[in-house]
Amino acid sequence: MDLPVDEWKSYLLEKWSLLPTSIQLTISTAETLSDIFLQSSLLLQPQDEMFLKRLSRGYFVGKDPEAPLFYREEGNKKFQEKDYTGAAVLYSKGVSHSRPNTEDIALCYANRSAALFHLGQYETCLIDIMRAQTHGYPERLQPKIMLRKAECLVTLGRLQEASQTINDLESNFTAKPALADSPFHILQRNLHHLKIKIQEKKNLTEIFPAALAKAFEDMDLREENEKISSASSSVSLCTDPLKGRYLIATKDILPGELLVKEAAFVSVLTPGEMQPLHQALDSKWSTKVTNGDLYCHQCLKHTLATVPCDGCTYAKYCSQECMQQAWELYHSIECSLGGLLLTLGVFCHIALRLTLLARFENVGEIIRKLCDETSLKDISLPENKNMVKTLNYGQGESEENGKIVQTPIPGCDVNGKYENNYYAVFNLLPHTENHSPEHKFLCALSVSALCRQLEAASLQALTTGLKCSELKAVATPDFCPDLDIWGVAMLRHMLQLQCNAQAITTIQQTGSKENIITDSRQVRLATGIFPVVSLLNHSCSPNTSVSFISTVATIRASQQIRKGQEILHCYGPHESRMGVAERQQKLRAQYFFDCNCPACQTEAHRMTAGPRWEAFCCNSCRAPMQGDDVLSCGNRSCTESISRDHLVSRLQDLQQQVKMARELLRNGKLEQAVRRLLGCRHKAESFLSAEHTVAGEIEDGLAQAYAALGDWQKSATHLQKSLQVVEVRHGPCSVEMGHELFKLAQIFFSGFAIPEALNTIQKAEKVLLVHYGPWHDDIQELRKMKSCLLDLPPIPVGPSM
Ligand SMILES: [Zn+2]
Ligand SMILES: [Zn+2]
Ligand SMILES: [Zn+2]
Ligand SMILES: [Zn+2]
Repeated sequence: MDLPVDEWKSYLLEKWSLLPTSIQLTISTAETLSDIFLQSSLLLQPQDEMFLKRLSRGYFVGKDPEAPLFYREEGNKKFQEKDYTGAAVLYSKGVSHSRPNTEDIALCYANRSAALFHLGQYETCLIDIMRAQTHGYPERLQPKIMLRKAECLVTLGRLQEASQTINDLESNFTAKPALADSPFHILQRNLHHLKIKIQEKKNLTEIFPAALAKAFEDMDLREENEKISSASSSVSLCTDPLKGRYLIATKDILPGELLVKEAAFVSVLTPGEMQPLHQALDSKWSTKVTNGDLYCHQCLKHTLATVPCDGCTYAKYCSQECMQQAWELYHSIECSLGGLLLTLGVFCHIALRLTLLARFENVGEIIRKLCDETSLKDISLPENKNMVKTLNYGQGESEENGKIVQTPIPGCDVNGKYENNYYAVFNLLPHTENHSPEHKFLCALSVSALCRQLEAASLQALTTGLKCSELKAVATPDFCPDLDIWGVAMLRHMLQLQCNAQAITTIQQTGSKENIITDSRQVRLATGIFPVVSLLNHSCSPNTSVSFISTVATIRASQQIRKGQEILHCYGPHESRMGVAERQQKLRAQYFFDCNCPACQTEAHRMTAGPRWEAFCCNSCRAPMQGDDVLSCGNRSCTESISRDHLVSRLQDLQQQVKMARELLRNGKLEQAVRRLLGCRHKAESFLSAEHTVAGEIEDGLAQAYAALGDWQKSATHLQKSLQVVEVRHGPCSVEMGHELFKLAQIFFSGFAIPEALNTIQKAEKVLLVHYGPWHDDIQELRKMKSCLLDLPPIPVGPSM
């Protein structure tokens, strides 16, 4: 996903292995990135490019005129099954394959508006109706969407407009009755109902709650740091030869305090994370739901009502504005390269987009100076962190003499300020000497192939496809005359990304809508570069928590941080997710360092049999089992012993059964699911510790099943057991714990167990607030639940729980 596809990777690695040793040596020992790039790209042959082109064609990103009908029909099937989300996604795919101003696109938009209507997304539904009409929705079908429009308006309380729409519809209909598809009396009846609805609404002097304040603008750093943009004044930037750059607390910090709020300098939506719908196997068009179907290509906002790029099917946006913005910033050049970029992987894509964005910053100087070989060396060589020469830029005087000045901390400008800009990005370490020669060769040739495509395709796009004057300005011939310079910059970015790419994640709700408990999981949405977040060092037990809204990362203290302590975040290998050996191995391979965090130190000394959430227990006395290949009971008076292989295979067996039970649960076969899960639980008790992750999953499944059956009490009991497992593994204040508490609150809430619900809501809010801040959806939801409960009459009616 990050790196190029396997076929291209192995093709290049084979090419590398066939190179004469002398050439391999030249590339391996090249001192600068520019040498590596130039030496490698000399070796890119036309047949290599042909091979790559063939691979790229495997990703069809163009528009297929036959696809809209196919997707509309597939969407209609989902619609019949009342899977409105699935239907909306398929209609969106149909939209993305349609040309503007065709019946195809109008019909797809109109059908999607129906799905959105059923999903209760009335505002979006109205927008889609408008889109259908702008693209020439056939007149014979007009009454259908006009009626839908009126219904939306009524539901939204926009009664004046609703009446107007109905009047229009009626007069239109009386004028040309033959036009309508639906029989006259049906339409009449619908109109009649709507009019009654309007009257009822008018009688109700209902005040509609004002829309929630736009959360996001309010969520701000209390005081922005003068020296580091996007960071709070509670931190400061330090540097040290061993640690490199890092942030420390300048005062005592409380849990939940916002420390960094930074918009990605660049982000690229991850195409992966396929979520299969029902796949029509014999079709050339995929019905799979991908990130690109659900999130805006530009701002990453979640939407079911995407608008596609006019030129391709892989870029879909939440709005016209995002489409326009993306086009001006980068998509005018990327549009025709979709297949190639998917083949070359996300890192290559980000590298390209970074250089495209760099054109707009006040760093034209950097790129131009890059053209000068000497400054290139200066930029790409020094990896010694405490003594780095940086280019002086942005100041009038330095423009004249181009002198190189010393700044104490790399990435900072002459005034010592560190900002979220291309200059800071450029200064992130590429760790050139740590990457294997093969890897550098792979990156260099991929970038080089991309450059040749750019030369061929985008220069043309630059001159013909321009939509904005700004672009014209940078596309003038004196802009970076040498594509090789771009190549070197892109190579640098590709190498930087391995250590500096930040996964942008989101919590996706899974499971059917009928389920009262939402089953959520974290998914990777995009990969981004955040220069300020990149300043944070890693710990396997970090003192911060990161979350994302759109393309903005927020970092909050997850615990108290004392003045002078380092601010740490986790690069992925977290102590609650893997053992120390695995973490160390991962960090060394990807980030080139040995982790020395407190978690690693204590765990390495402890040499325990592993964490409790992976522990086996004795069949006869339930004491923990100990040992390596053969485990024996930890209780001295017990003589049980058993081979690890045997336990592991029992565990795999059990996991398989849990999976099947969850499948039943998903398909609504609740009684069967419960029976199976209870069986699994019985088995688990005979050899797994009560805090084992699988035991937790079983309890969680049971909780979901009972909730769906309406048995709140049982559901809550099981969820509380699952909660204990999560607490042992992730800690009582972890975000995982917050999500579990949220679920428990939902159960109590639905069961009208008011005191329990209020109590759990409070706990969940406390935990989630620390990680997400007050404006997160979950917090808002909890507060809604709370106010709803507090408005209830004091004596609960009917059986409580
Ligand atoms: Zn957007
Ligand atoms: Zn496009
Ligand atoms: Zn560690
Ligand atoms: Zn025992």
